[in-house]
Amino acid sequence: MTDLRLYNTLSRTIEPFRPRSPGRTSVYSCGPTVYSRQHLGNMRPYVLADLLTRVLRLQGLEVKHVINVTDVGHLTDDADEGEDKLELAAERSGSSAFEVARVWTQLFKRDLSLLGVREPDVWAHATDHIPEQLEMIGQLEQRGLTYRAADGVYFDTSRDPGYGALSRLKASAPHTRVGASSVKRSPADFALWKLSPSHSPKRQLEWPSPWGVGFPGWHIECSAMATKHLGPQIDIHTGGIDHVAVHHTNEIAQSENALGVRPWVQVWMHGAWLLFDGEKLSKSRSEERRPPNLDDLSPLGVTPAGFRYYLYTAHYRSPLHLSGEALRGAEAALKRLRAVVRAGTIGEAPAAAPSARLTALRDAFHDALRDDLDAPRALSVLWEIAEQPAPLPLRARLLRELGESIGLNLAPAALPPNDDALVESLVARRNAARVARDFALSDALRAELLAQGVVIEDSPAGSTWRRA
Ligand code: AMP
Ligand code: ZN
Repeated sequence: MTDLRLYNTLSRTIEPFRPRSPGRTSVYSCGPTVYSRQHLGNMRPYVLADLLTRVLRLQGLEVKHVINVTDVGHLTDDADEGEDKLELAAERSGSSAFEVARVWTQLFKRDLSLLGVREPDVWAHATDHIPEQLEMIGQLEQRGLTYRAADGVYFDTSRDPGYGALSRLKASAPHTRVGASSVKRSPADFALWKLSPSHSPKRQLEWPSPWGVGFPGWHIECSAMATKHLGPQIDIHTGGIDHVAVHHTNEIAQSENALGVRPWVQVWMHGAWLLFDGEKLSKSRSEERRPPNLDDLSPLGVTPAGFRYYLYTAHYRSPLHLSGEALRGAEAALKRLRAVVRAGTIGEAPAAAPSARLTALRDAFHDALRDDLDAPRALSVLWEIAEQPAPLPLRARLLRELGESIGLNLAPAALPPNDDALVESLVARRNAARVARDFALSDALRAELLAQGVVIEDSPAGSTWRRA
């Protein structure tokens, strides 16, 4: 068995993964800011985190997984300025910021569950962890790493010689701009605590603190919550590629300085973009060009499982281009795998031991996953299994097992009774498979139809069917 190897953004190399405590792993995933509906691009990092935790468990490791929910103010840009997205959404909708966060959090969790993403061990809500955030800011202040400005408390990046190791940008590099009104000493400095503005309107999300009434900066929540739930050092931290330059760089600066540990996180993993029309799919598009979410798939005939299959068609570090054609192609591929599973599951007693070839393919599937979670390669192994000359029940059993291990449910749903249109479409698919000399699929579909009480009769003139 090969080792699990993961690409680490910190070293920019693929490394063998060794958990700090034998047999146990801690994983922290940056979660969404819940001021609107999460779009299809937002789903990608959580399918990555789910694939990761599944593969860790396949390795026999016990996993503790935390995902946070940013339900406190998150300013509209990385430079600690702009409007607060949650307060703004509350104002626009006429409901409270807590209600806005509750509604979108619920939908986000529903979307993940439709995608077969397993619940983390802890959902960490930022508003439930204000004392922990205040404590960490206090530790940084005691160590002389902060300064007070007119609108809050800032982290002084010039006091941290290790700052920027993840992004490989110097603290002085203008990776965040300083706006005209900024009170920061350096562009890279970032807010730990922002004071509520004295002028109206009064903020809904604000708390007392030693520095005055206000709200935490974005980055401190992840450092504080990760520490509370996973301890002072973490095995793996995941997020989107956009987190590298600012959010994760700042999380490291806070945590390593407050906790006196280095490295705070052993492996940093970042998922690549889902692109649409050549651009990053993004919430900031105008209302008319609302980014598609999971509910937009069903008119295309694409199920959440089909979308998950589609995400697996690219490696998590490669950008993926969203198109109706690609989505429908993924859905069709998933259905074909399910047809093979159905054919091998219904009406036939499972044969005895799998052949050496099937066992080798099972290993190849796991090797692909252990190779930095190579899902596209794992999918291609599933297809090799589907097309093996081995008995159908054996292939079906293995496909089901392997699919399930990566969150792809390959168990076929029962056909609705007396649905002639569906039967016609299956017969047509079988005819197409025969023409393409895809005999594995054509046999699978024939067996599937037979199991549903439909007999196919082939003749030189073509195939006809009747109910048995
Ligand atoms: P946002 O609320 O737009 O900042 O997105 C939350 C997180 O979802 C981001 O930080 C990214 O990690 C991830 N994300 C957003 N858009 C995409 C996308 N188009 N493709 C992949 N991940 C994305
Ligand atoms: Zn985070």
